[in-house]
Amino acid sequence: MSKGVDHYVQAGKRATQRHIERMKEMKKCRFDTIAVHGIYSMQEALNFNQGAIIEPIYMSTAQGYRDSDEMEAALSYQIPTWCYSRIANPSMYYLEWVLALLESYGTWLDASCIATSSGMAAIQSAIDPFLCVDCKKPNQKINFVATSQVYGWTFQQFAMRKDVDRSIERRKVINSTDLDERESLIDENTRFLYGELPSNPSLAFFDIEAVAKIAHKHNIPLIVDSTVATPALLRPLAFGADIVVQSVTKSLATSGFGIVWAVIAKNNITTNIDNPTMKENFCGYLKLLPNRDNGPNISPINAILTLNDIRTVRMRMDKLSRSTMKIAKFLEQHKHIEGVDYLGLESHPLHTLASKYMKLVDAEYDEEYGSEQNRYGHLMSFRIKGDHQATRKVFDGLQRIRRATDLGRIKSVATIPAISTHQQQGEEGRKLAGIPSNLIRLCVGAEHPDDIIRDLEQALSTLDGKEITMTFPEYSAGWASSATV
Ligand SMILES: *Cc1c(COP(=O)(O)O)cnc(C)c1O
Repeated sequence: MSKGVDHYVQAGKRATQRHIERMKEMKKCRFDTIAVHGIYSMQEALNFNQGAIIEPIYMSTAQGYRDSDEMEAALSYQIPTWCYSRIANPSMYYLEWVLALLESYGTWLDASCIATSSGMAAIQSAIDPFLCVDCKKPNQKINFVATSQVYGWTFQQFAMRKDVDRSIERRKVINSTDLDERESLIDENTRFLYGELPSNPSLAFFDIEAVAKIAHKHNIPLIVDSTVATPALLRPLAFGADIVVQSVTKSLATSGFGIVWAVIAKNNITTNIDNPTMKENFCGYLKLLPNRDNGPNISPINAILTLNDIRTVRMRMDKLSRSTMKIAKFLEQHKHIEGVDYLGLESHPLHTLASKYMKLVDAEYDEEYGSEQNRYGHLMSFRIKGDHQATRKVFDGLQRIRRATDLGRIKSVATIPAISTHQQQGEEGRKLAGIPSNLIRLCVGAEHPDDIIRDLEQALSTLDGKEITMTFPEYSAGWASSATV
């Protein structure tokens, strides 16, 4: 006897109710508790996962259904279902709801999240739904307004993939703190405001509350990339942002085994697009429709590896921020350094503004601190007194800090943005983004800060004529076969 589709629809409603209750329960907990347990309860572990205390990795392409009624209910999205791993997977579910809870921490906002396989996929997922052309106005030229100080490939996605390929005008805010400049770029064809906060690598910052107000006045959303801060130091949704894109495998996870990103949105975003489903639950909409059709999903193993790292994000960001402050102070007084860009330094022009927002979550409930504590993350940059060649000399002298175009790692990593992450945007683009050729970006790891200082000290001594010679092995055949040249 067929149970009927409605039998499953009712069961689905009960499951949704249990999910809502679990979320409510977790919202009462402090940040660390949420990061550690997330949505995975003792009941779920004992009922469904043999008591396993760590969330299981569901290495399966698809979900099988009890009968045709359940299949029909699932595929018509009438019941919660994961269906097929291009759409969703239970391991992703654990990760996504932890992130939704952490990004909305300290507020009563309801938020949802969708994980993606890279940052560029997250940014694409977050902005594309706003870039649809109204078919009643086929000649309409739409635009969006973004700060110039953004990650190099974000710049490329905006400039090449949107502006050049699709004729969607990217309007650049030159001075990210100038509210009037930003507002003057908005017109009736503007679809969203975008900004990176703090920006990579120049650490630009803007007043989130004020910018969100401008966006909402014009009935458009504010989208923020807050990768550098992580929710342990900054939660833009609490200050009015509608959507956050966040690298999960940079500072949130740090271990560096792969790439996972996420889009996190509050419910009922502000938008001038007439799409009630999207407006109400942006990430739910992305999951069931555009991302199902575009396919930027993550693997279940990455979801759980990432989740395991997120549990300690608060204590890591505290320690990493403190080490970075020590290193920034060391560099600031060094004779070969022209300047240090770190929001934590009082000499930074945006220090006061950043201090309004960047705080270690729950420091006031911390045994050790007992009061609010500003923390500024582990990304900084510094400029060498000298030209680009002098900068390369110092960079090549590093013996422990890795030369890589990465950040957010448990190991210290440095790069010269002008020849790497920001190479393709050209001289003019780099000027807008505030990236001179003598700039080294340093993301401080969890080594003892004194050892990082020693490495920097000996690398800087190359400018006093000290020779450093390191020998490395030849390329292997495997290396050569992975090259694109
Ligand atoms: C790394 C990074 C990106 C891009 O992420 P991918 O995973 O490399 O695609 C975007 N924004 C910021 C701020 C980043 O640091």
